[in-house]
Amino acid sequence: MERTMHNGDLRLSDVGKEVTLLGWVSNKRNLGSLVFIDLRDASGVVQLIAQDPSILPDVRNEYVVEAKGVVEKKDVPNPALKTGEIEVVLHSLKVISKANLTPFIIADKTDALEETRLKYRYLDLRRPCLLHNLRVRAEIVRCWHEYFGANGFLEVETPILNLATPEGARDYLVPSRLHHGSFYALPQSPQLWKQLLMIGGVERYYQVAKCFRDEDLRADRQPEFTQLDEEVSFMDQEQILTLNEGFLQKVFRELLGVEISLPLRRMPYWEAMDVYGSDKPDTRYGLLIRDLHPLLSDVPFDGFHGVPYIKGIVVPGVAKETSRKVLDELTNEARKFRLKGVLSLKMLDGQLQGSFLKFLSEEKQAALVSELGLKDGDLLLFASSDDRRAIDFGLGALRTLYAKKLGLIKPGTYDLLWVVDFPMFDPIEGQPGVYSAEHHPFTRPRDEDLAFLESDPERVLAYAYDIVINGYECGGGTLRIFDHDTQWKIFNLLGLSDEDVAKKFGWFIDAFQYGVPPHGGMAYGLDRLTMILCGTDNIRDVIAFPKNLQAVDPTSKAPAEVSEDQLEVLGIQIKEEE
Ligand code: ASP
Repeated sequence: MERTMHNGDLRLSDVGKEVTLLGWVSNKRNLGSLVFIDLRDASGVVQLIAQDPSILPDVRNEYVVEAKGVVEKKDVPNPALKTGEIEVVLHSLKVISKANLTPFIIADKTDALEETRLKYRYLDLRRPCLLHNLRVRAEIVRCWHEYFGANGFLEVETPILNLATPEGARDYLVPSRLHHGSFYALPQSPQLWKQLLMIGGVERYYQVAKCFRDEDLRADRQPEFTQLDEEVSFMDQEQILTLNEGFLQKVFRELLGVEISLPLRRMPYWEAMDVYGSDKPDTRYGLLIRDLHPLLSDVPFDGFHGVPYIKGIVVPGVAKETSRKVLDELTNEARKFRLKGVLSLKMLDGQLQGSFLKFLSEEKQAALVSELGLKDGDLLLFASSDDRRAIDFGLGALRTLYAKKLGLIKPGTYDLLWVVDFPMFDPIEGQPGVYSAEHHPFTRPRDEDLAFLESDPERVLAYAYDIVINGYECGGGTLRIFDHDTQWKIFNLLGLSDEDVAKKFGWFIDAFQYGVPPHGGMAYGLDRLTMILCGTDNIRDVIAFPKNLQAVDPTSKAPAEVSEDQLEVLGIQIKEEE
């Protein structure tokens, strides 16, 4: 089709040009002798003006039209539009495709229900803010290709139909037609393949990889998601972090014009947990967790006797308005993290107040006030536990809650850091001595901790790192085990018998007998990274066709029943619901 310009590109310098424009009618205002039409295409919106309305066919919102006219300077510019200094005086307007009344108005600001927007996603995508998000996403991928391509990484595709391996989340399964009763699993990540690529001598691999995990959904989780996945041989952890900092610097520079200063901070896992109450700390604000054990372990309060962890946070300025009800709500929040209860003291009129005071001598009170620097209006929330993760995560949740409540996070600020030195194992609650892998079973324990693998697994730290941006884990990786026997032992420690290891991972671990380069890598969650750069906390805003919280695609309504014939060839019979 003949098209001389894109609508959003028109500027003062185009005044006088004859143009042919294409796009959707996004708004029409009829002033009797004058008609104004806003014409939208992927590049933006321009105002058309018909000085002789009789030339206009019947046009309505969302009709696709071809407009011919001449660019003129507007007497009164419209600063809300990039094209606001000009308008196009129409000579003719032709309807190319008509549109029904849309179920919601196509505009950035909308009060349409998300379910309706997702059902008509193709209309939703016409909203400029969504198109913008897709562009940001594509730009990140462009940076990924440019950066890793320039660093000698080879793009390799890995299989989608895989063997199910018991290493992480629940798999999506695909029945095999040729082998009734057998199933492929969709990849949770290309982890094993990329390690085999290293053993295969590729040395530098990268891929934009679709991954699938059949987990319950949340605002920032989807059943299918995209990873920017990479693996490299012969690099140590620092080299991998430095390499990736270059990529992040490029993304922030080219997409946001923001210079991040390198090297990024590296924060050990236990520091992040103890101080910020999170393994993905947002360090843009204070409200730090304080260790109160030295001060309070000897007070005559039963709950503190012999307990290894007593910690708290000071929330400034909220003491007065914090009612019993609010404190109960805080306790409920902390309980989600296995913290049994939250105690409180208020600093009001120069004095500590609260029922816990009866356990504190005058000296203790004075020590608490001076040690924590308590000021009028401060609220001290504190707790005890014998579970370090529970108390850290519990207080961390309160920290985040108050940061939001008190508006401590400035929009448009970016805080990037690496969390390093993760524990190798995560104790499984209620099952002493049983562990899951904190990252995944292929993670290499630190050399200095290898001796404690069996005797004290909880103290073993790993060569593992997460990139955290504004309190979101945007990616993570590890150095990998490259020794056959260590890998076998780790599987055993994670509860797999020798028979299980041989059966489930034999095909993989066999490769470790043929010369394995030390290797490591990481993967970014493209969806999360895009969310951060777009400033949204809804993952569905950065995916063209997302699933809803019930894992249903609202546009096509997948998943759906299939025909008897389709089941028959797969050898599958559906069990009647009881
Ligand atoms: N495969 C890992 C993941 O999906 C990332 C990595 O270790 O490279 O989390």
